[in-house]
Amino acid sequence: EMFGQLTSGLESAWSKLKGAEVLTKENIAEPMRDIRRALLEADVSLPVVRRFVQNVSDRVVGVGLIRGVRPDQQLVKIVHDELVNLMGGEVSDLVFSKSSPTVILLAGLQGVGKTTVCAKLAFYLKKLGKCCMLVAADVYRPAAIDQITILGNQVGVPVYKEGTEVRPSQIAKNGLEEAKKRKTDVVIVDTAGRLQIDKAMMDELKEVKQAVNPTEVLLVVDSMTGQEAAALVTTFNIEIGITGAILTKLDGDSRGGAALSVREVSGRPIKLVGRGERMEDLEPFYPDRMAGRILGMGDVLSFVEKAQEVMREEDAEELQKKIMSAKFDFNDFLKQTRAVAQMGSVSRVIGMIPGMGKVTPAQIREAEKNLKIMESMINAMTAEEREKPELLAESPTRRRRVATESGKTEQQVSQLVAQLFQMRVRMKNLLGAMEGSSIPALKN
Ligand code: GDP
Repeated sequence: EMFGQLTSGLESAWSKLKGAEVLTKENIAEPMRDIRRALLEADVSLPVVRRFVQNVSDRVVGVGLIRGVRPDQQLVKIVHDELVNLMGGEVSDLVFSKSSPTVILLAGLQGVGKTTVCAKLAFYLKKLGKCCMLVAADVYRPAAIDQITILGNQVGVPVYKEGTEVRPSQIAKNGLEEAKKRKTDVVIVDTAGRLQIDKAMMDELKEVKQAVNPTEVLLVVDSMTGQEAAALVTTFNIEIGITGAILTKLDGDSRGGAALSVREVSGRPIKLVGRGERMEDLEPFYPDRMAGRILGMGDVLSFVEKAQEVMREEDAEELQKKIMSAKFDFNDFLKQTRAVAQMGSVSRVIGMIPGMGKVTPAQIREAEKNLKIMESMINAMTAEEREKPELLAESPTRRRRVATESGKTEQQVSQLVAQLFQMRVRMKNLLGAMEGSSIPALKN
């Protein structure tokens, strides 16, 4: 099964969190080790695995829990989102030339499925309503020309060929001229593959590329070769400049290392994937569907997304009500700091508060630091104190206790209390209320 090994490797990570009530640095250590191991076994390259695990850990530690969502489900969602990022986020569409015809140059080592891809791609584009032509510029193996001719016939697309005695760049150029005459939309040029990368192959590719000025230069790689595929894409990109990769034989790949590494390692997207031997087995590469397939938990993912959505709406509404009634207390304050941690940035919360305008990154960092300090002080308050900040305003003893318990100074606690009342007033004023609540002087 496609990526089956990786899927079951990751499953053991979630299972370690069953019964947990929160996500902490401590209780994710073991699941993170499982994730790391699963990715390495999938043959994802080590630097990529390191970065991935770091990204996931950072997000987990900053995340607040969503009501009704279990920690293991939340981790699944975070891993999913990071997998999508790793694979480039969005689907990367083929680009077509505005002044027809579009030239697509295909390169790749022998046996990866390049010739098959030529025909599959023509078939795929034909379904999109494009009129295609194949150009047989792989002149080293007579069998390659026969093969592409047969496949071309099979999908009903003309094949331009000049035998094996003409330079590939010349064949490509002549093929393009012929395509112009026929008003073809897309010309797909098949180039020679070797068993290994060598200078002659690279030089020839450069020459062909120069001769036909392709819109797309795609390297066909075999997904079974794992991170080696990513290294090849990198090399070809540096040597000749490519626009993307086509990953073949995904149907037989239980590991997934190539799909996960190519983008991150080479900086070039996977544009299409081959998932079988039939002509119709070529499709665009969708990072989110791929991540979903790897995790095999579509239902969990959509559930977490919905829960996040609901929580955002409820919180925004409730906050609005509190602001209107100027009853904003320390519980709201705390909720806000947690919302901040969950959303990853103060700027968005500040953006939600009307009239608060733009803030700089330095201000955001400072604010995030302050929020942590505030949170520890609020945690040291009693439930009553949180609901009635007046109690703290009135009693220096209470403020001293909060300071001691949170490891902060009395001055910091006083500042926090004053700040809350200032916030109430400011919020009320912002909303144009006639009466602002008063700021009590702190009694000593
Ligand atoms: P080339 O040497 O790169 O031109 O490779 P070919 O196009 O001749 O393909 C080599 C073999 O791989 C053939 O048997 C193809 O049928 C097979 N092949 C190509 N793509 C796929 C794929 O996506 N899935 C599977 N299962 N086999 C494929």
